[in-house]
Amino acid sequence: MNFLIHRSELADLFDKVAAGVRLDEADALRLFATRDVNALGVLASLVAQRKNGNRASYIVNRYINYSNYCILSCQFCAFARKKRDADGFELTIEQIVEKAREARRLGITELHIVGGLHPSLPFRHYTDMLRALKALDAQLQLKCFTAIEILHLAWLAKKSVVETLTELQAAGLDSLTGGGAEIFQPEVRQAIARGKESAAEYLDVHRTWHRLGGRSTCTMLFGHVESVADRVDHLRQLRALQDETHGFTGFIPLPYQPENNRIAVPHPPTGFDSLRTIAVSRIYLDNFDHITAYWVGLGLKLAQVALSYGADDLHGTIIEEHIFHMAGATAPQAQTEAAMIKAIREAGKVPVQRNTFYEPVKVWDQSAATNADAAPAGPATRTLEANLATA
Ligand code: SF4
Repeated sequence: MNFLIHRSELADLFDKVAAGVRLDEADALRLFATRDVNALGVLASLVAQRKNGNRASYIVNRYINYSNYCILSCQFCAFARKKRDADGFELTIEQIVEKAREARRLGITELHIVGGLHPSLPFRHYTDMLRALKALDAQLQLKCFTAIEILHLAWLAKKSVVETLTELQAAGLDSLTGGGAEIFQPEVRQAIARGKESAAEYLDVHRTWHRLGGRSTCTMLFGHVESVADRVDHLRQLRALQDETHGFTGFIPLPYQPENNRIAVPHPPTGFDSLRTIAVSRIYLDNFDHITAYWVGLGLKLAQVALSYGADDLHGTIIEEHIFHMAGATAPQAQTEAAMIKAIREAGKVPVQRNTFYEPVKVWDQSAATNADAAPAGPATRTLEANLATA
């Protein structure tokens, strides 16, 4: 047993994890309660190593927000606008395709497309958008829409959720995004996202999508007004659905961003809180293959450290992020592939470019490159750096 753990209050939990025994919610609360973040890192790394060996991944992708008009006004949200607002926007399908065309030149494998709950765009607009993007490039993986958007589209189209998802899938939807989960606990959900669909509705969209053969990610927004027990309850519900469907590809904990919204949070998530949340997620979600350290919210430096606290993925190049930045995120709008490879290498891991489904596209082992600073000279890296100013 690692000496850190042997001397730690977590020694008995280390024995359970080492023996492959599932932790319960009381165990997860104990993990959250410890101040011994290094022991937590050892425990989380044991699980991460078992799941993914010494690899850590990233994706070359682009975000597109098709509109920030939204019929809801979630209190935590700095992104949504009403039609009367001067800084509201709505992209045409042609504009979206043009952004995709530009990004293809950067070597992306995925488009990640979400927006607000638009008041009036017809359902046909969304299927046309997917078809137009697949017509541009059938290999481009389309990871689109939160479960909340799916419920909105079903309501707009007067279709059931299964009909809605089936039609979107036929039009080219490859994966759902994980957004909209926030925190499942009803009172907290009401306090930060009044009017938003319930946890049961969020989970049922993912359940339905998984039953159609689809895969998706899931998230948790932490560090606002929720308790640690609320986080554990959130993880419990995700783990239960994963037991049922095995359809989640990964889990992405999202640290709350405190600016430009209506929730007063004097102490948004610290580095310590972010690391322990990632670590507990890795340890408790024993049926998830991947845990992402989301650099947009954490900053790349802390995301890199999180690779030693259970995370095995840094997310993507992104290129143009709005939602977190409008809420005060200070990370850059994009990461180069080179920066992510360097961060992963420095953390002692083997960088792996992945696709939407976390399947390897390229393994940057020593035979692929020998100089972490200079090596990742693939077309995506060169052109991304050259084109960031215009993206
Ligand atoms: S979080 Fe989503 S649903 Fe809520 S107001 Fe913002 S864009 Fe709308």
